[in-house]
Amino acid sequence: MQYYSTRSRGEPANFAVAALTGLAPDGGLFIPGELPRYRETVRRSLGTMDFHETAFETIRPYVYPEIPDAVLEELVRSAYPFGAPLVGVGDRQVLELFHGPTAAFKDFGARFMARAFSYLRRGEDKDLRILVATSGDTGGAVADGFYGIPGISVTVLYPKGRVTPLQERQIAGLGGNISALAVEGSFDDCQRLVKAAFADEAVKKRLVLSSANSINVARLIPQAVYYAAAAGRAFAGRIDGAAAATPGSTAAPGSAAVGKFRLVPDRPVTFCVPSGNFGNLTAGLYAMKMGAPIGLFIAATNINRTVPDYLAGGIYEPRASQATISNAMDVGAPSNFERMAAHWSLEELRRVIRGVWVSDEDTRKTIAGVHQDRGYFLDPHGAVGWKAADSLWEQRLLPEGPLGILATAHPAKFAETVEPLTGPVPVPASLREAMDRTPQAATIPADISALLESL
Ligand SMILES: *Cc1c(COP(=O)(O)O)cnc(C)c1O
Repeated sequence: MQYYSTRSRGEPANFAVAALTGLAPDGGLFIPGELPRYRETVRRSLGTMDFHETAFETIRPYVYPEIPDAVLEELVRSAYPFGAPLVGVGDRQVLELFHGPTAAFKDFGARFMARAFSYLRRGEDKDLRILVATSGDTGGAVADGFYGIPGISVTVLYPKGRVTPLQERQIAGLGGNISALAVEGSFDDCQRLVKAAFADEAVKKRLVLSSANSINVARLIPQAVYYAAAAGRAFAGRIDGAAAATPGSTAAPGSAAVGKFRLVPDRPVTFCVPSGNFGNLTAGLYAMKMGAPIGLFIAATNINRTVPDYLAGGIYEPRASQATISNAMDVGAPSNFERMAAHWSLEELRRVIRGVWVSDEDTRKTIAGVHQDRGYFLDPHGAVGWKAADSLWEQRLLPEGPLGILATAHPAKFAETVEPLTGPVPVPASLREAMDRTPQAATIPADISALLESL
């Protein structure tokens, strides 16, 4: 596959270059030259293939030939010992993306990226150093994804005192090839320091640096997998039902939904995607264009409503982010918008995406209401999705047929918000284990010389 910049159709890059450099030389984002399509036999088997087969078939065209088939097969097996169950909750389906080690969907991208980087750099004598700034969730997924991966070390910068105790342990509790820096400043300071380090000539002579942020194609592409797998199953009239009640899952034993979003076979699926930087939704659009049976997306945001406003009014106006209880979606200038706009016109996006934003008050009411009526625990991000779908349904703007709400994080990750509304939330084993770690971060001032000294 050839990758091009969103900004100019210059020299193409292959997957290895696009993944390891992250950004195109002109500052744009890498996009595939064309979106591949599933072979017809594969497309018709999406409902019956296992998760690893779907992962292999979905990712292969994007990484071939730099990652050979046998390597890719092994890679997806090792990255995904967990899956993405589609469970019935009341009148709809929930696509649970929180069964990975850090209990959020970012595990799917980070774990693939770590293994892909390790393979692409085989035989190099210098180690690769990943520098990443985090406001909370990304750092944990990247740390966990790269933990123990040979030839790569990771430095995570996070704002001291501004992440939750659980997030701090996920970022700074692993040790080994993962080190953590608690920066006396804000998330923006952390990002500024990372950018300054990348621009420092002396550091570039000493270290091979790379980033792991969400605009990297190696994190984006594997996220198309769970859309294809879930759409295939729903299209075949099947869900994972009670099988989802793996340890730590919050799923009530499910059956096919009854009511408004009935699981009628042979109907394309609507996915509702709680969105911030819009990487997840972009990956969904890739799965749809590849031929997965998806009819529509709902772009559900909190008050940071830049994209819903764009879809409604046709004008793209990035703005400063505002703090909400679904804080992983507090993004006013979504970085993947540039990618969506490079692939598709406003008219095309309007045909396949409905934008809805949801207030914190409605998010809280939804968490409480769904728990009371269905016994199901939603996290604040998934709750934005649930409520967005309800609003569209009431306005008669949704087709009949299966509806999959993406549950992007486990509710126990946001217990401070969820538990006052529902009572105690069951904690999955991976999070219990993380809570037992001792965070070991060096504290540094928000100053570039302090960062350079500690690298
Ligand atoms: C990162 C994140 C999101 C937003 O995903 P994008 O790809 O940035 O749109 C939503 N929910 C949770 C829990 C997240 O961690």
